[in-house]
Amino acid sequence: MTRFNGKVALVTGSSNGIGRAAAILFAQEGAKVTITGRNVQRLEETKQEILKSGVPEDHVLAVACDLTSEQGQDELINSTIAKFGRLDILVNNAGTAFVDSQGKTGLNQDVSDYDNVMQINMRSVVTLTKKAKEHLIKSKGEIVNVSSIAAGPQAHSDMMYYAMSKASLDQFTRCAAIDLIQHGVRVNSVSPGGVTTGIGEAMGLPAGAFEKMMKFMESHKECLPCGKIAEPVDIAHIIAFLADRRLSSYIIGQSIVADGGSSLVMGCQAHDMMKMMSS
Ligand code: NDP
Repeated sequence: MTRFNGKVALVTGSSNGIGRAAAILFAQEGAKVTITGRNVQRLEETKQEILKSGVPEDHVLAVACDLTSEQGQDELINSTIAKFGRLDILVNNAGTAFVDSQGKTGLNQDVSDYDNVMQINMRSVVTLTKKAKEHLIKSKGEIVNVSSIAAGPQAHSDMMYYAMSKASLDQFTRCAAIDLIQHGVRVNSVSPGGVTTGIGEAMGLPAGAFEKMMKFMESHKECLPCGKIAEPVDIAHIIAFLADRRLSSYIIGQSIVADGGSSLVMGCQAHDMMKMMSS
C-alpha cells in the first residue's frame, strides 16, 4: 500500500519542472494521474518517466491542452472523470512569467504582459477550480496551488505583474479554502523561491540567462542563505504533503514557503535582475 492508492490527481503544468516532479511522485506513491501541458513532446517525456518507475500505463492520462482555453479545461476535467471515475487532488501548478522583449521592467513593461500573466497564473486557476469543484466535493478532496515568494510582502518591482499574479493567487487560496472547507475540501499552497526548471525558457529569456540568475543567487548569501537552488522534487514533496490528509489535515488556506531562506533576507531585491542574468 502506498499513500495515494485509490486517489486520482490532476497536476497542471506537468509537462515540465515542478508539475512534472509532482506528477511522478503522486504516480509513484499509488495515485492515478492526469498530466497536462501544451507541449506534446514534453508531456510524453513526463509519461515515460512515470512508466519507467514501474507505474502501470493505465494509471496515466496525458491531455495536451492550453489551460487558458475553457474548452481545454473542460476536456481536461471530463477526460479525467471518464477515465478514472473521480478526482481527489487538483494541483494548480501551471504558470509562468513574461519578460518584456525590450528588457523593460516595472511599470514600463507593456500591459499586454499583465493580461497574459493574469490569464494563466490566476484566471485559469479560478475557472479550472470551478470546473473541478463538484468532483472534489464528492471525494472530499484537496487542492494545492503553486504560488511564489514573489507574492510578497516585499516588493518585486522587476517582475511586478508576475508578483501581482501570485499575490492574487495567495488571496484566492485563502478565500477558496474557507469557501470549500464546509464541503470537506482543503485548499493550500506552496510558495517556492528559486527552482531549476524550464521557466526561464518559458519566460522568453535568452538561453542560459535564468541559470545565470540562479548561480548568482547561490553565490550570494543575501539572496539565498542555504546556498543551493531547489530541484523540482523538493517542491513536489511539499505538494504531496499538502495533498496527504493524514499528514496535513489541519492546515487550511495556508501557503508553505520553501525557499532556502530567501524570503527571510530578500537581498535579491537590492540587485538588478537584468544584471544578475548577464553576470
Ligand atoms: P516550467 O516552465 O518548467 O513549467 C511550467 C508548466 O506550466 C509547463 O508544464 C507548461 O506546459 C505549463 N504551462 C504554462 N503555460 C501554460 C498554458 N497556457 N497552458 C497549459 N500549460 C501551461 O516552470 P516551473 O515548473 O518553474 O513552474 C511551475 C510553477 O511554479 C509556476 O506556477 C511558477 O510560477 C511557479 N514557481 C516557479 C519558480 C521557479 O523558480 N522555477 C519559483 C516560484 C514559483 P507547456 O509549456 O507544455 O504548455
